[in-house]
Amino acid sequence: MNIFEKAERLKKLPPYLFKEIDRKKSEVRARGVDVIDLGIGDPDLPTPPHIIEALKKAAEDPGNHRYPSYSGMGDFKKAVAKWYQERFGVELDPDTEVVSLIGSKEGIAHFPLAFVNPGDVALVPAPAYPVYHIATMFAGGESYFMPLLSENSFLPDLNAIPDKITSRARIMFINYPNNPTSAVADLEFFRKVVEFARDNNILVCHDAAYTEMAFDGYRPPSFLAADGAKEVGIEFHSLSKTYNMTGWRIGFAVGNREAIDGLGAIKSNIDSGVFQAVQMAGIEAIRGDQSCVRDMVQVYSRRRDLMVKGLRDVGFEVESPRATFYLWIKVPEGYTSSDLTERLLEDAGLVVTPGNGFGEPGEGYFRIALTQKRARLAEAVERLKAFSM
Ligand SMILES: *Cc1c(COP(=O)(O)O)cnc(C)c1O
Repeated sequence: MNIFEKAERLKKLPPYLFKEIDRKKSEVRARGVDVIDLGIGDPDLPTPPHIIEALKKAAEDPGNHRYPSYSGMGDFKKAVAKWYQERFGVELDPDTEVVSLIGSKEGIAHFPLAFVNPGDVALVPAPAYPVYHIATMFAGGESYFMPLLSENSFLPDLNAIPDKITSRARIMFINYPNNPTSAVADLEFFRKVVEFARDNNILVCHDAAYTEMAFDGYRPPSFLAADGAKEVGIEFHSLSKTYNMTGWRIGFAVGNREAIDGLGAIKSNIDSGVFQAVQMAGIEAIRGDQSCVRDMVQVYSRRRDLMVKGLRDVGFEVESPRATFYLWIKVPEGYTSSDLTERLLEDAGLVVTPGNGFGEPGEGYFRIALTQKRARLAEAVERLKAFSM
């Protein structure tokens, strides 16, 4: 055997969605085309200055240079619990119901190692953030994909899951406001999920990365605000999108103490927590002036309006999202998601993400991320006008 023969879990990885897109993007760029990248879900705005100041100050303190507590600083966990109380009306014990994460992706990726045995099933939405499925696979589990369809407002149809799957399912992933469809869920849906989870002994993992990126006064709820949710579930949260902190790697999980304890046990054997100076900057983000969040929402809502109108003028079918910085757009008749993505890059110099890259039920859609300035988005709209479908 080749000494570099990869382990089965790596061989089973689906092709990396952005790799082929990146290759084509470089190719088109090399031809001198001014490519506009609407592909990446990474804020183009900087982290607010007061948060950077807090990091600078904390980085100077030798007390922060040592290993942190793996589950998070007391003050960070208290700040999270207070924020959950004020923002969502959810009570949390900072000592047992909160754990800091090196970005929420880290927590999501490690979570199945704590609760999924080989052969167990995880209920995973599709289209979705790829980490849910891959983390399940790394733990030896099998994903059962719950299609998110427009006729169900991009919510999973819990009644459509076969009994023989439900009986093998240990965990279920959901994510609202949703990437990539930008759909939102109300408390009524979360209540149904709690009931389903209770009836079938399934641990719910709600990815809440986009709750603060919502428009026109809409305030997305926490899953944990549904009655009984804390008895069946955990919620992953992130400072990445709310405070333009994707590079800082800080997030947290909250909810059921046994779920938090299981995740903590995995983490304590793999990583050693979040740099304390970053946690102190996180405290400043959560507790400090929130006008930066309102500004961020304002920026994206203006971009949203410009792009939705532009797309509709050209004849694309798209909903104006109530949350997230994504537009989930129908691919016109006569194209597949991949065809259209390729044509948009070749003929218009626009990078978008094909819907099927997030799972087969995403076929027939493409995703735009509003992570470019308005002038660039306006230029993208001009190019779409010139693009003949
Ligand atoms: C961006 C994103 C995250 C956040 O990731 P971090 O690791 O906290 O930066 C989590 N889930 C979804 C669906 C996302 O789009």
